[in-house]
Amino acid sequence: MSSGRKLPFGAWGAAAFVVLLVGVPLVAPQFWVTLGNYIGLYSIVALGLVLLTGVAGQTSFGQAAFVGLGAYTTAYLATTYGVSPWINLLVGLVLTTLLALFNGVLTLPMRGHYLPLATIAWGISIYFMFGNVDFLGGHTGITSIPALNLFGLELRNERYYYYLIWAIALAALWTSNNLLDSRPGRAIRALKGQGQMAEAFGVDTVRLKIVVFVYAALLASVSGWLYAHLQRFVNPSPFGINQGIEYLFMAVVGGAGSVWGAVIGATLITLAKQVLQDVLPTLLGRSGNFEIVVFGILMVVVLQRAREGVWPWLARLLPVREPPPVPAAEPLALRDRTLLAGPLLDVRAARKRFGGLIAVNDLSFAIHAGEILGLIGPNGAGKSTMFNLISGALPLTSGEVVFRGESIGSRKPFAIARRGIGRTFQHVKLIPQMSVLDNVALGAYLRGDAGVLRAAFKLDRAEEARTKAEAARAIERVGLGAHTHAAAGSLPLGKQRIVEIARALAADPLLLLLDEPAAGLRFLEKQELAALLRQLRAAGMTVLLVEHDMDFVMGVTDRLVVMDFGEKLAEGLPAEIQRNPVVLEAYLGGI
Ligand code: ADP
Ligand code: MG
Repeated sequence: MSSGRKLPFGAWGAAAFVVLLVGVPLVAPQFWVTLGNYIGLYSIVALGLVLLTGVAGQTSFGQAAFVGLGAYTTAYLATTYGVSPWINLLVGLVLTTLLALFNGVLTLPMRGHYLPLATIAWGISIYFMFGNVDFLGGHTGITSIPALNLFGLELRNERYYYYLIWAIALAALWTSNNLLDSRPGRAIRALKGQGQMAEAFGVDTVRLKIVVFVYAALLASVSGWLYAHLQRFVNPSPFGINQGIEYLFMAVVGGAGSVWGAVIGATLITLAKQVLQDVLPTLLGRSGNFEIVVFGILMVVVLQRAREGVWPWLARLLPVREPPPVPAAEPLALRDRTLLAGPLLDVRAARKRFGGLIAVNDLSFAIHAGEILGLIGPNGAGKSTMFNLISGALPLTSGEVVFRGESIGSRKPFAIARRGIGRTFQHVKLIPQMSVLDNVALGAYLRGDAGVLRAAFKLDRAEEARTKAEAARAIERVGLGAHTHAAAGSLPLGKQRIVEIARALAADPLLLLLDEPAAGLRFLEKQELAALLRQLRAAGMTVLLVEHDMDFVMGVTDRLVVMDFGEKLAEGLPAEIQRNPVVLEAYLGGI
């Protein structure tokens, strides 16, 4: 078998998956069909958690409550009022959306461990509600739920039901995978730890977190609906906080970074639980839920040893496909570049106070269209603070920042980005596992409008092709064409800084703000950066360059503003500044 024409593992894997998926109900004993059904149901819930927790970084222990919501809605309506399960599905989705919105609006702006705690509280309270509300049957639950009827076929047989569950699971995998590879998907991937960066490119992060929360809740609700009509009875026990933890465990063990992690995790945990429930009591000679102890230990080991879960290990066996070149597409619309009278940006007596420290003290300067203005000064002079006052990352204490005649001083970063100000970060903020292409495409976020629904059903492809082509052009423009498909985190720091410039360019800015782009660069890299800046100026770009390194700045700027202790020390042409004794004194004194 060493002919070299071996079928690659990926093809074998895919073929085995399909054969297994289609074949199980045809030949396997009932027991395996039941397991297959549960794995499908769990995969749907875990998939929501892959997006919510794995990709977007928002931990939820409360998913089982949404499963219960879907299950109880159809159980109650079908048994009490005889409503068709298919209508109940819609009612359940609407109820879930409303509750998830309410819950999300309250909890998602929370940071750190408050969100997980809030989801625990929510999970517990819904569980008690199921058990204590009379019309939901208390702890006995609701029985005699009708079987589903699909095209006149009654799905009483678990073997048929299996196909329905897996058709829905595969559809959910498909939509989720589409979503991740899209305009909102790139923004969702930034939610985990890169919210500030995403905001600077126009992403409303709180709103997006709520959207992902609702998406995950809807998947859970569908799973609950399927569960109710499979079991044909419901009681509160499968919707408690234990199950919520288990769902999270599935997503983490499978690999919370890929949609396949959900299926792998649901399969592993379900099988492991089955085996442990059989083996442990025999081994220990007494009955009890010992598998929970083993799971607890396993969870700790996974978090210690394999943060990314099992999926990346499997993915390594898959063939690496060379990504195709990005196809050309019609360019995205450009901004109105009409030159207005007066400076492009006018900073008027800007002041920023941090407690007792005045970091920027009534600073005034202007940037004219087409020039590269250097803002320099010793460490701690207040350059970054001034930069953040312009980009909206910090609010002004007093004074004004006027961009194209409009005062923008009190606006949020994404509102400022929308007006045509692009920025880079002093400490590089890229999404390391994501390709350079996707990172740069995130810069063009405000130039598209595809939302979650369009993306999930692949109705965004025309806009997506144009965005990718635009991103590829920005990458070529900064000379990183050879790295288009590389993971951004795999590039050396100097190149990562250049990727940040490409990302800002993809936003089609009128003004580019660069905070210490030369920091940490080697001599040659600095020269390349200088050449890039000259080339941008030749193309008509306006740049504010904040720099500590005087030598670097001298060669590339048209004009300089020198700051020290928050105030303007001098302003003029580079050659004048270089000879200015006050400036030299400040720099020498500062070292
Ligand atoms: P530069 O970028 O020129 O090195 P910064 O703008 O970062 O200077 O800092 C100017 C001064 O403001 C420093 O004394 C710094 O310690 C202080 N500073 C900056 N940011 C904050 C903050 N968020 N809170 C309090 N003090 C700050
Ligand atoms: Mg700084």
